[in-house]
Amino acid sequence: MSRIVVDFDRCEGHGLCEQTAPDVFQLDDEGELHLTHAEVAPERESAVAAAVRVCPVAALKVQP
Ligand code: SF4
Repeated sequence: MSRIVVDFDRCEGHGLCEQTAPDVFQLDDEGELHLTHAEVAPERESAVAAAVRVCPVAALKVQP
C-alpha cells in the first residue's frame, strides 16, 4: 500500500488538504497537520491524490 509523506518544513497549515480529504488530513488547534491514515487505502486513493495536487506548497507526496 502506498504511503503519504508530508514535508513538514514546507507545510504552512492552510488546510486545503483537510478540506479535500478530511478523513485523512486534520489540522489541530495550533495549525499542525496530522494524518489519520498514513497508508493510503484503495478507497482513499483519489481523495489523497486530489489533496496532493491542491497543496499550494507541494508539501505532500505519495510513495509507492
Ligand atoms: S495543503 Fe499543504 S500546506 Fe496546507 S495544510 Fe495541507 S500539507 Fe500543509
